[in-house]
Amino acid sequence: MAPPKVYKNFINGEWVESASAHAFENVNPADRNDLVGLFQKSNQQDVDDAVDAAKQAYPSWKNTPPPKRGEILYRAARLLAEEKEPFAELMTREMGKVLEEARGDVQEAIDMTFYMAGEGRRLFGQTTTSELPNKFCMSVRSPIGVGALITPWNFPMAIPSWKTMPALICGNTVVIKPATDTPLSAYNLVKVLEEAGVPRGVVNLVTGTGVEVGNHLMAHGDVRMVSFTGSTEVGRKVSQASAVSFKHCCLEMGGKNVIMVMEDANLDLAVDGSVWGGFGTTGQRCTAASRVVVHKGVYKEFVDRLVTRVRALKVGNGLDPTVQMGPLINGAQRQTVESYVEVGKNEGARLLCGGERLTGGEYQQGWFYAPTIFGDCHPQMRIAQEEIFGPVVSVIPCHDLDEAIEIGNGIVYGLSASIYTRNVNNAFRAMRDMETGIFYVNAPTIGAETHLPFGGTKQTGNGHREAATAALDFYSEWKSVYVDYSDKLQRAQIDT
Ligand code: NAD
Repeated sequence: MAPPKVYKNFINGEWVESASAHAFENVNPADRNDLVGLFQKSNQQDVDDAVDAAKQAYPSWKNTPPPKRGEILYRAARLLAEEKEPFAELMTREMGKVLEEARGDVQEAIDMTFYMAGEGRRLFGQTTTSELPNKFCMSVRSPIGVGALITPWNFPMAIPSWKTMPALICGNTVVIKPATDTPLSAYNLVKVLEEAGVPRGVVNLVTGTGVEVGNHLMAHGDVRMVSFTGSTEVGRKVSQASAVSFKHCCLEMGGKNVIMVMEDANLDLAVDGSVWGGFGTTGQRCTAASRVVVHKGVYKEFVDRLVTRVRALKVGNGLDPTVQMGPLINGAQRQTVESYVEVGKNEGARLLCGGERLTGGEYQQGWFYAPTIFGDCHPQMRIAQEEIFGPVVSVIPCHDLDEAIEIGNGIVYGLSASIYTRNVNNAFRAMRDMETGIFYVNAPTIGAETHLPFGGTKQTGNGHREAATAALDFYSEWKSVYVDYSDKLQRAQIDT
């Protein structure tokens, strides 16, 4: 057997080994015998080197005209499109999501890169009036400096691209720290940026653990902003560490998203949406529909249809095009799912399907778990309140729209929500009243597009948004510029 490929860090335009001289394994969650590669188990020295490179590269990159920065991103987007298929296959191998979804993940990176490339010729500010004569006023976007980008494993290329591309187009330099379960997709993204001509030091990649690399990176004195996507628990630490030196801090964290199915819903559509929203990416999406609140009038019929569909889902290795749901990311995540299923049973929820590991045969070497539905859940049960991040959906009965909204909002998170109804008034009421950053009508809770703001309220986020022009607001600061051409001292608020 050929030895596994060793992947290096990217620091100051060079592919280099970690100062630790240690590596960690990236293993296929569908088949533990499949070693995807060895990655650098980086230490604080590597972080210091990467931040230093980013700091040195910043003055020149920030003064590179944004359309020129955009040209590099356009090249990167085209290269990503050319490599879409191999990148998707590698992503399925390292992360487990089915190939079709891995293609979607790469496509999101392509879309984001094209979108931000175009911003190179916009990055609009404002010109406005002055209260004084012969005075010109405008606001322009300024870059901030070195950014630390810390990303999770569930969207291994899309999420690094959501952060990297707006950061670069605004004129910042970055150090990317991908999740240890999925470093290869971030590596591929950085490789493409290198090929596209990003100057040395502008983009740096350091692989390794959150405790060793992430912790040191987010607290580094030369890092001016931290963009983090991951769990609420770690996000809180990032927020606290950033506060010490007033770093800009963008947090995208957990979710417990709801689909509300009303009495007048198209039930076929609602079932389709609940299967896709609940079990797409094996339920490991921050926007996964892990709760479905259903009107009593259609509850039984909806649940029967949903269970029939979910029982029929084909689970397996995502590289098989007939497979509809892949494995969980790792053993710890499977244990988390198992323990929540026990919690659900003990809480008195009705287990309608699943509720067990899939083992033996093709499942033996992977982290597989059967798609699981709990019925008759009470909204306050832990399985209906806490993020499980696996293929477990809690179905909750309700009497009317008001109750559905109350249940939907009755959690600490606020990422995504959706309603299935044919009543336009109810759709608009829900749209207004759901405390989420994303809302869908007659579509599931997943399916964000890159030209709309992405993010959540309450304990999902801290008020920033990714994607769209909203992302530019995090990766730049406003500078207000006053040009006085009166040739005399004019005093605002005093001279009238
Ligand atoms: P995680 O919080 O465990 O890890 C996220 C990243 O932070 C990883 O790169 C990890 O190595 C790093 N990290 C861990 N501990 C750290 C520390 N002490 N200091 C600095 N960095 C540290 O999350 P995960 O398991 O990779 O991802 C799943 C979570 O991400 C879920 O909660 C999910 O909802 C959330 N998520 C949110 C969004 C969103 O946009 N809201 C999108 C995707 C995933």
